[in-house]
Amino acid sequence: MDKVCCICKKPQGLAPTRPSWSISSDFVHAANEPARNKQHTGEMLMSAYIRPNAQGPQAHICDDCLRISLRALKVAISKVLTEYDAGTDLEAELSDVTARLANLQDEHHNACFDHDRMQDRLAHVLDVLDGKCAVDAEVKSARWEVSRGHLQG
Ligand SMILES: [Zn+2]
Repeated sequence: MDKVCCICKKPQGLAPTRPSWSISSDFVHAANEPARNKQHTGEMLMSAYIRPNAQGPQAHICDDCLRISLRALKVAISKVLTEYDAGTDLEAELSDVTARLANLQDEHHNACFDHDRMQDRLAHVLDVLDGKCAVDAEVKSARWEVSRGHLQG
């Protein structure tokens, strides 16, 4: 007998057994400046979890039931978000996030430029030292670093 969805009783067929579903993400709240550079501090962990009520680990949720559950979750989150967004200037918030993203991209570009410049200088130093010093682990590591190439092409 074919296994069925524990919610709607639709046959499982060839679908892999899915006793539950979840998604998670995390981000660092950029407005929390002192915490930005500390790992895990100021970090938000978010997750959504869907599981049948009172079912064992062999239970299966079909795609249709998962889709309906996700839509119900989306409606519930939208309702809560509407409450929390009340009084918020979403345009200003978007503008602020865009500006922070632009600054982050600028910092990234400069870090890549500095990396590439220092890599060229390291390659030059290795060329000058070539044959004049022992090839120890540090020299091998430096040559490997140079061989990685530029970040910006
Ligand atoms: Zn189902």
